[in-house]
Amino acid sequence: MTAEPQAAPAAPTGDAAPAIVARNVTRTYGTGAGTVTALDAVDLDIARGAFTAIMGPSGSGKSTLLHTLAGLDVVDHGSIRLDGTEITGLNDDALTKLRRERIGFVFQSFNLLPMLSAEQNILLPLELAGKRVDRAWLETITSAFGLTDRLSHLPSQLSGGQVQRVAISRALVTSPAVVFADEPTGNLDSHTTEEVLSFLRLSVDEFGQTVVMVTHERDAAERADRIVTLADGRIASDENLRGQR
Ligand code: ADP
Ligand code: MG
Repeated sequence: MTAEPQAAPAAPTGDAAPAIVARNVTRTYGTGAGTVTALDAVDLDIARGAFTAIMGPSGSGKSTLLHTLAGLDVVDHGSIRLDGTEITGLNDDALTKLRRERIGFVFQSFNLLPMLSAEQNILLPLELAGKRVDRAWLETITSAFGLTDRLSHLPSQLSGGQVQRVAISRALVTSPAVVFADEPTGNLDSHTTEEVLSFLRLSVDEFGQTVVMVTHERDAAERADRIVTLADGRIASDENLRGQR
């Protein structure tokens, strides 16, 4: 057989393509002797419909990775394709639009607006994106999350667990390509932590949602399908847990 030069395979497109394809992503902070390399030439694919946990010690680059993948932070080098769109080099307006339409966020503090009802909080991303409300989808999410009879309540009238469920419902309402959660269980007691993890799990298993969660807790990470561990801005290990569930 003669060895022929092979053309590089075309990047996959369509639903079979990963939700995120990150290549050679490097992010440094500062200059000169004070330069910190938060991400060092990271290559990472995030499969659609999977629950991926990003682990690692404090300072290993977890938040920087999440923020760059979500278009909240810029990179120095490398390429990030999110849902088929190259996001490095997009201007602020385009990034804002992409985040509103194709990304859902679950923040550690959950950030519900206190003067809006649970339903209004959940619908806020659609309003910001100027999109119509799909009542059937809203009904599907809120009934799966046990919120049907809480929709007119203000956040102050909800339990801690219900607040988290509203926050996760809000992240799902636009059917985003990816839901990102940065330490979503960081401030929670063990019961509420378990609730949040099971609702993120449900989002993946029932709705096929792609979820990327940063955590420094091994127990939380083990609820995911895959654990990517960072150390000093590089991927130190990449574990597939799917066969174990
Ligand atoms: P983790 O989320 O794993 O704790 P980070 O992504 O927050 O890690 O930080 C990775 C590294 O980058 C750390 O050394 C941190 O000090 C540094 N870093 C993060 N953000 C900034 C910033 N805005 N300015 C300077 N250094 C930063
Ligand atoms: Mg962090």
